[in-house]
Amino acid sequence: MKISENCLFCAIIAGKIPSTKIYEDEYVFAFRDINPQAPTHILAVPKEHIASMNEVNAENSAFVAKIFEAIPKIAAQEGLKNGYRVISNCGPDACQTVHHLHFHILGGTQLADRMA
Ligand code: 5GP
Ligand code: ZN
Repeated sequence: MKISENCLFCAIIAGKIPSTKIYEDEYVFAFRDINPQAPTHILAVPKEHIASMNEVNAENSAFVAKIFEAIPKIAAQEGLKNGYRVISNCGPDACQTVHHLHFHILGGTQLADRMA
């Protein structure tokens, strides 16, 4: 498993920085966003360090598949019966601030009908 020494989310996965864990399996770690933008705001991340969507390739895409298998489980666990939104910001135009691939899971209220 590739990790990055100076990556915030690698440190969270390793338990070096505390987080509110929601879900974990061999490939995926999910925890509450520290600055929630909806009543439920969870970050689902691969346990391997992948810097962004642009770094997804044939060698690591199984991590992304596992995240998408985990998301419905997380949504059910969180009681998001009426739906939710999944977002991944990639690069400066999308305001990506943490350079470890992550999927925001947002829900628990009626979300805005525009995404940007
Ligand atoms: P981005 O802007 O890169 O798409 O999203 C990064 C997210 O990470 C932001 O929503 C931000 O609130 C969250 N975040 C940044 N630092 C921490 C932290 O130390 N702990 C947790 N739980 N979330 C963080
Ligand atoms: Zn990382």
